[in-house]
Amino acid sequence: MMKADVMGAKFHSLTLSEAVNAGVSLIGTGCHRVVTPNSEIVYEALKNPELMELINTSSLVLPDGIGVVYASKILGCPVKQKVAGIDFAQGLMEALAGTDKTFYFLGSKPGVADGAKEKLLEKYPGLNIVGTADGYFKDDAAAAEKIRQTGADVVFVCLGAPKQEFWIKNHGEATGASLLIGLGGCLDVFSGNVNRAPDIMIKLGLEWLYRLYKEPKRIGRMCRLPLFLFKAVGTRLRGK
Ligand code: UDP
Repeated sequence: MMKADVMGAKFHSLTLSEAVNAGVSLIGTGCHRVVTPNSEIVYEALKNPELMELINTSSLVLPDGIGVVYASKILGCPVKQKVAGIDFAQGLMEALAGTDKTFYFLGSKPGVADGAKEKLLEKYPGLNIVGTADGYFKDDAAAAEKIRQTGADVVFVCLGAPKQEFWIKNHGEATGASLLIGLGGCLDVFSGNVNRAPDIMIKLGLEWLYRLYKEPKRIGRMCRLPLFLFKAVGTRLRGK
């Protein structure tokens, strides 16, 4: 699979459907971590080698966010398209509904994962969801063991980034699942508690603006987006 190096973070360059196919084909072939870093996370990884290593040792690294897509263009190694974690997750559910492959939802506030389950069963009849748990547990090993007992193949891990990525690294194997995906606030969206931006804003690459409008406290995190692009320009100019 083609990779695009965005300041040290190596992204797979895939369309959404290629990414979904790649995810499906990993099931049953060991324990795989899927990460979908946005520019905030890559920016953080520049200062945190452990996080960078975690990104680059994942089985699938998908560019969630227009910042990463722009940076890849600036750096002269464009990714094929933005592949948002939420779109990847929906593609997987569509592909696997009606098969014997099973899902587990871990994360968000109590009740959210169950709400998501209910909504998603309406949307994807035949989807096999074998368990849910909220993301405010104390005992990591017990949370992983609970997943193992369900025999889930795919786990949506929604604890916020980069907590969820480290959780998958440290406890993923113990869950016995094949595909563990860090998906941030996706369960909040699937449950209907939080709305995604209108389609037109997503198409125009303005989803970040909508999120900022809904959650103004994100401003600090989002200031990293222009900084990140400036850094990409600097890297390009230095010819690295
Ligand atoms: N969360 C959780 N456990 C924690 C901290 C956060 O389950 O200890 C959940 C939180 O309820 C929310 C999600 O993680 O559903 C983080 O969502 P956000 O949109 O902030 O994700 P990010 O942008 O950090 O990936």
